[in-house]
Amino acid sequence: MVHIYLSNTLSHKKELFEPIDANNIRMYACGPTVYDRPHLGNARSAVAYDILYRLLKAVYAKVTYVRNITDVDDKIINTCKQTGDHFLRLTKEITQFYHEDMAALNCLSPDFEPRATQHIENMIFMIKTLIAKGFAYEAEGHVLFAVKQYQDYGLLSNRSIDEVISGARVEIAPYKADPRDFVLWKPSPSDEHEFGFDSPWGRGRPGWHIECSAMTKAILGEYFDIHGGGADLTFPHHENELAQSVCSSESNQFVKYWVHNGFLMVNGEKMSKSLNNFFTVRDMLNKGIDGAAIRLIYLGTHYKKPLDFSEKAIEDAKKTLNKFREFLHSLEISIDESFVAPELLELLADDMNTVSVIAKMHELIAHYKKTKSIDSAKSFIYASNLLGINLSAQEDVIPDDIMNLAKARTDAKLKKDWVRADQLREQLESLGYKVEDRKTEFFVKKI
Ligand SMILES: [Zn+2]
Repeated sequence: MVHIYLSNTLSHKKELFEPIDANNIRMYACGPTVYDRPHLGNARSAVAYDILYRLLKAVYAKVTYVRNITDVDDKIINTCKQTGDHFLRLTKEITQFYHEDMAALNCLSPDFEPRATQHIENMIFMIKTLIAKGFAYEAEGHVLFAVKQYQDYGLLSNRSIDEVISGARVEIAPYKADPRDFVLWKPSPSDEHEFGFDSPWGRGRPGWHIECSAMTKAILGEYFDIHGGGADLTFPHHENELAQSVCSSESNQFVKYWVHNGFLMVNGEKMSKSLNNFFTVRDMLNKGIDGAAIRLIYLGTHYKKPLDFSEKAIEDAKKTLNKFREFLHSLEISIDESFVAPELLELLADDMNTVSVIAKMHELIAHYKKTKSIDSAKSFIYASNLLGINLSAQEDVIPDDIMNLAKARTDAKLKKDWVRADQLREQLESLGYKVEDRKTEFFVKKI
């Protein structure tokens, strides 16, 4: 059996992965807050835990992977207030976009994808338990976690009390008994009642951290194997999740291995809207960059290290993808799904070392060209599947503006404005796209 090693944030060490129950490996990764298209940093995290999921599935018979959808949050409420959009419509649409964009990167769907709004009752129950056990208190319609009651607070993110207090993300508020205390439940002001839920503490909504604690417990139980997320979630999100979950549990346990992926930069700078270098996955796909090339950019840097999504990285990934595709198409062997290359699995099992596996794939191509060794070719195919690199022909990505034209054409047809519909069809054809109607749906294809 191949041994998996993972860097555990809690112990600051690379550890041998020893499952709690080898018959069912349980893992959770924090998913998106659905108010905007996923950006390149969101996707880095999704690809990292997709690799871990694939690795675990290659070694163990059953893996349960949970990735949540945060569909109640300030960002969602603020977006709706600004645009007048209905939150149900917004969160449904963005969830759909998230699925499309992650599918373009060939990320497997998780086994469970709970939405926070489906688990409000579980959150209320957990908060009540924390109050009953003396770990939480009510103040001015809020419920707060009393950090001083939990001695191990700060262990995960390796912070002292002073550092926690001075942390930029700690909100100072008059209703807090201690500045470190964080919100479990907060009241909905009168203009936000539609976004709220009834609770023993009045109309309000959960804090972000309690959402993940309640969803993991409901689906994976009190103690599970792996919790993943971006390094920026270590504090306060994961530190607070850990505190809530341990203090409300019967077993005083929560997660065995905490895994965090590194930051993402764009051309050497932090990605931010103010620097004008903020990109979504869809921005990259619309530029005509293949989803498999984007995935290769992520896999080309070890998941824990900072990743620079640079022009050079894009060009290198495109070249590698072309080389891999040409090699695969030049082979005249049938694909053997049952073939396993244990040495490649072992490379990946060493703390998800995708960089070494890709280096090995280049070596396998060179070796095959020299020796025509069938095993080299089969190992190459095995590695590409293990890493989820889609080497089949490029699927056409239809840019948003083309989709908008096609939709306008359908709308014109529904209004029986045949002249406008024809004009739009011609415009689409001149841009190199063809629309096909099937019943009430339409499909766009590259000509
Ligand atoms: Zn979370």
